[in-house]
Amino acid sequence: MSDLAIRSLSKTFGGVRAVNEVSFDIKRGEFLALIGPNGAGKSTCFNMINGQLPPDSGEILFEGAKLNGKKPRDIWRLGIGRTFQVAATFNSMTVIENVQMALISHANQVYRLWKPASSLHRERALELLAQVGMQDAADRPSRELAYGDVKRVELAIALANDPRLLLMDEPTAGMAPKERNDLIALVKRLVIEKGISVLFTEHSMDVVFAFADRIIVLARGRLIADGDAKSIRDNPQVREVYFGT
Ligand code: ADP
Ligand code: MG
Repeated sequence: MSDLAIRSLSKTFGGVRAVNEVSFDIKRGEFLALIGPNGAGKSTCFNMINGQLPPDSGEILFEGAKLNGKKPRDIWRLGIGRTFQVAATFNSMTVIENVQMALISHANQVYRLWKPASSLHRERALELLAQVGMQDAADRPSRELAYGDVKRVELAIALANDPRLLLMDEPTAGMAPKERNDLIALVKRLVIEKGISVLFTEHSMDVVFAFADRIIVLARGRLIADGDAKSIRDNPQVREVYFGT
């Protein structure tokens, strides 16, 4: 069964056709890379899937239900999580408080009951931090974290919502190559364990070819290829548009 179905999705900004009749599916448990040069329309696709941006035309179906017209918050509640290109946590809080906040929000508990150093969801938050390798930093202020570690905490925050589909727009932006590889390996391991699907963008082709189950290529708003690493690597149109060879 397909988890997410994108049907003829289009979005124009002024005269720019940012996303042009794009269709693809994400199957349950799939680790799917969306690649393409800068300006190809990747972020615009993410923004339409999570409800931040209304499509001009086309359909988005999640587990068979239409997402068009729903608000980001409702889409998030349906089980579609998202991380952002620029990682951000609440700096005035500790690492674990950030994850506890996400758990409180997921449980739909009232925010004003929140008190710093509260024990609410502490165990579950520690478990999530352990899953991303950040349990030792639990009680440190978030602002002290290195960028790569903020990305890991952001992942724990996204997982606090128990997503069945996780959207990650350039999760490794600003990271060194080794850190990139480690973060994507971590995400892949977690999604296999949890059985969730991931759609991610990533600039390093080495990382994409090493980890993605399937790769979708956008160029100037159009989907030009959809297949496994080998078929993408050998695709002449991809080589021309993406690698310039
Ligand atoms: P990518 O994420 O693949 O780099 P984007 O989806 O961000 O590409 O952008 C696709 C095209 O749409 C680009 O030409 C970009 O300049 C344009 N675009 C994106 N967002 C907006 C916006 N809010 N207003 C105007 N143009 C936009
Ligand atoms: Mg982008």
